[in-house]
Amino acid sequence: MARLQAEEETQKAFGWAAIDSSGILSPFHFTRRVNGDNDITIKILFCGICHSDLHIARNDFGISTYPAVPGHEIVGVVTQIGKEVDKFKVGDRAGVGCLIGSCGKCENCQDDMESYCSKPNYTNTIFDDGGARTYGGYSDIYVVNEHFAIRIPDNLSLDGGAPLLCAGITVFSPMKYFGLDRAGMHVGVVGLGGLGHLAVKFAKAFGMKVTVISTSPSKQSEATQQLGADSFIFSHDSKQMEAAVGTMNGIIDTVSAVHPLKPLLDLLKTKGKLIMVGAQSLEKPLEVPAMPLLGRKVVSGSMAGGIKETQEMIDFAAKHSITADVEVIPMDYVNKAMDRLAEGDVRYRFVIDIANTLLT
Ligand code: NAP
Ligand code: ZN
Repeated sequence: MARLQAEEETQKAFGWAAIDSSGILSPFHFTRRVNGDNDITIKILFCGICHSDLHIARNDFGISTYPAVPGHEIVGVVTQIGKEVDKFKVGDRAGVGCLIGSCGKCENCQDDMESYCSKPNYTNTIFDDGGARTYGGYSDIYVVNEHFAIRIPDNLSLDGGAPLLCAGITVFSPMKYFGLDRAGMHVGVVGLGGLGHLAVKFAKAFGMKVTVISTSPSKQSEATQQLGADSFIFSHDSKQMEAAVGTMNGIIDTVSAVHPLKPLLDLLKTKGKLIMVGAQSLEKPLEVPAMPLLGRKVVSGSMAGGIKETQEMIDFAAKHSITADVEVIPMDYVNKAMDRLAEGDVRYRFVIDIANTLLT
């Protein structure tokens, strides 16, 4: 009887999971909770591959638990709604980003900054989902409280729109919060990957001057001709770096590995802001030298964004035709895609075509 009841409280789901720190993904059957009164169930159509998925799959931070179904750049169509749901109806387009729960009571939640709640619940990691593990969007369905689901405007393409749910909000939110969204300002974007290329697009939509600071000279023409950056610095060329010293109001640093900060601090004007959004190992902290900070420069960081702001970002992106440049891949290409992402070989986001290629 107890077993029957447990089965009634879950529904079958299918996806791909990493089963150990090799990070190799393989087909995985699991269950999700049934659709509750405040929940919607989404049939997933596309899911982006964020570098955080790679960190989690390969246990880069030593916090992963397995099996781990990655994926927190989810878009799809609503197939079921609970009786208290009023934001969605069946057939609507919906998205899910990094966050699927928070306490709802603390100062940060009250301030629409759920990503800073001390009891957050994340889409695809080690957190609790009503007694069960959370499994991410490399899978067929997602069940989520409607508060944490985002409405996807009809004119936003679903494959290019998926990466906005994490990469997009992660760069949009600090640009807004730190005032790096004003026309005429000069912003640097370090690391031209999934997050970085969207930072360039948002900054251009804000009317800013944008310089990409990259370790990959091969990205120069794409950065300036396709993405609209005003200039490009190969960060290993000291002459190019010197020429830009003291020119930037702010820098959004999206690099996924430990790297020197002093050369970046030198690029800032007095009172300039260096905002870190890349996730790096706690065991190898970055060095922040004090001298360059004496010019009233600020080093800070930012974590995804709240739900209200994520909706604002999606609506802004739809209005300004901002989507990610994507390479759409079938599900069974995911391990190759992860290897290529680790090597920086993606222009600029892999997105999995879940609806057509996730085969049970
Ligand atoms: P990505 O697509 O792999 O892009 C990262 C870029 O960083 C690369 O394209 C490369 O750009 C540069 N890079 C990589 N290794 C480097 C190294 N050793 N030294 C210097 N530059 C290097 O990754 P992503 O998906 O944009 O994510 C970037 C980071 O943000 C990851 O650590 C991810 O976990 C983190 N993240 C944080 C949040 C948050 O809430 N704060 C949210 C999402 C992701 P160039 O070739 O141009 O140098
Ligand atoms: Zn992410």
